[in-house]
Amino acid sequence: MSKSQFVLERSGLEQLLQALKNEGYVTLGPTVRERAIVFGELHTLEDLPVGLKDWQEGGTYRLEPRADPALFGYNVGPQSPKQFLHPPLLRLLRASKTAQGFEIVSETEPLPKYAFFGLRACELQAIQIQDQVFLGGPYQDSHYKARREQVLILAVNCTQAGNACFCTSMNSGPKARAGFDLALTEVLEGDRHYFVGAVGSGAGARLLNQIAHRPASEREWNQAEALVDQTARNMGRGLNTEGLKELLYQNLDHPRWEEVAGRCLSCGNCTQVCPTCFCTSVEDHTDLTGQIAERTRHWDSCFTADFSYLHGGNVRVSTRARYRQWLTHKLATWQDQFGSLGCVGCGRCITWCPVGIDLTEEVAAMGGVHVQNQP
Ligand code: SF4
Ligand code: SF4
Repeated sequence: MSKSQFVLERSGLEQLLQALKNEGYVTLGPTVRERAIVFGELHTLEDLPVGLKDWQEGGTYRLEPRADPALFGYNVGPQSPKQFLHPPLLRLLRASKTAQGFEIVSETEPLPKYAFFGLRACELQAIQIQDQVFLGGPYQDSHYKARREQVLILAVNCTQAGNACFCTSMNSGPKARAGFDLALTEVLEGDRHYFVGAVGSGAGARLLNQIAHRPASEREWNQAEALVDQTARNMGRGLNTEGLKELLYQNLDHPRWEEVAGRCLSCGNCTQVCPTCFCTSVEDHTDLTGQIAERTRHWDSCFTADFSYLHGGNVRVSTRARYRQWLTHKLATWQDQFGSLGCVGCGRCITWCPVGIDLTEEVAAMGGVHVQNQP
């Protein structure tokens, strides 16, 4: 086995948390809050959702106990790293009134250095897509850049597929291939519980050198690979991406848009949970005394009426137009705009849609191939 393929015992993983702390990282990973798995600060492995799995379906999410003490025995929750790299609410500037006019109050708080612990392959792909959006063009988003530059990523390969997952269709998972510092696969074999890992960067190698580990045997490596391969075969959903852009462009007047609009609440949940959606609005406001003014940026959505208001009127007055905008952007115009699909197959928009609207079904209804959900 290659030197960069290693095995950690559970104690080694605990040491990794300490090593991250020693290097000044705030370690964010899966934790349980309000009966969902959300990002929280990790101090020990016990902060992880130990022995829990998530059950997901269109409009349905619940946590259930597992029969084993797996640390990563679930898929993705409603949040993604977007929450931290592209915050939902961000102050862009603050100004205070002076006798002469106003002065800009500079931000003095240093940004935390985040280590993401337990990111899935689809989330790594989502970060790469957002990198392209925020950093790939001639105008870079300095707020995203400052956060992104100091991030460290420990990925975990999926060893079970969720009902709403279709990462294999989007070529984004279940195995992390790039964009990580360390990547692990959790293996539970009888009484043995260990993590087979790969190094993805110099920072990852440096961390690994600080904790107890040993080279992976061929049998251990193959065992981990088999678990991930099995996950790839068990995707809950599927989406045929061949000719997808053309399919959508040819069907802008398909009656299905009207049909889905009859179910869609225009609530925007799908855009808020999506790890790649990036639209924002900017607002200026003052405090009650009129002494302090702030400019803030907050997540917005193509489903809100105000977001589509240009001078003189709203360009997307109907839910039909808004849903069509969202879906065609994700799967078609994103390709023209950024050179990739805007979807990584994480399934969040399906699970967290209150009425269970499923983009794979909507595409299928317009002529795309839909792979039946598996029990
Ligand atoms: S569109 Fe849906 S499935 Fe695709 S990345 Fe966004 S939330 Fe995940
Ligand atoms: S598709 Fe679902 S989540 Fe998205 S706006 Fe419509 S009802 Fe809300």
